[in-house]
Amino acid sequence: MSNTSAKVINLADRRAKKEDEARNAPVTGWITWLYCPKCKSLEYSELEMPNGRVHKKCGTLVEEEEVQIDVRAEYTISLRNSKRLDELFKETKIPAFLKPLAKKGIGMLENLHAAEVEYRKRLENIVNGPVNPYPDEWDEKSLEMKLKTLDPLGLILTEARQPNLHFPEVDSS
Ligand SMILES: [Zn+2]
Repeated sequence: MSNTSAKVINLADRRAKKEDEARNAPVTGWITWLYCPKCKSLEYSELEMPNGRVHKKCGTLVEEEEVQIDVRAEYTISLRNSKRLDELFKETKIPAFLKPLAKKGIGMLENLHAAEVEYRKRLENIVNGPVNPYPDEWDEKSLEMKLKTLDPLGLILTEARQPNLHFPEVDSS
């Protein structure tokens, strides 16, 4: 009898472990950086185009760099960035460091906010549906990559969102 209950516990244990693994399982995807040598412009796309593509604006064939991503990690970090932006919007202190350009500052926050929303939309496109973020205790530092923190806002950019890593010769500022 004790043997049976041990087995049951063992099964429950294994199930819990499996669920835990599923909760923390990465979802592989790709982001492609597109560089137009004529316009010197950089943009990203979640769409894979094996036969290449041209820049809509000028018709030039763009250079491409594919970056493998963990869709869930990208999504989770983006959500955290949005949360941080929400807090900044709410904080009355925010104009303190943005005061000289208060209006411009708010506009900048709005742009950053829109960029996060857009990025998550693209990530959802990759998996064709909603993305399950990692749990709160998940630490982005567990990713073995160069995370870039945008100071003083504290937003975090993964490698996939740092185009200069993929096109070092292009000044993306
Ligand atoms: Zn172009």
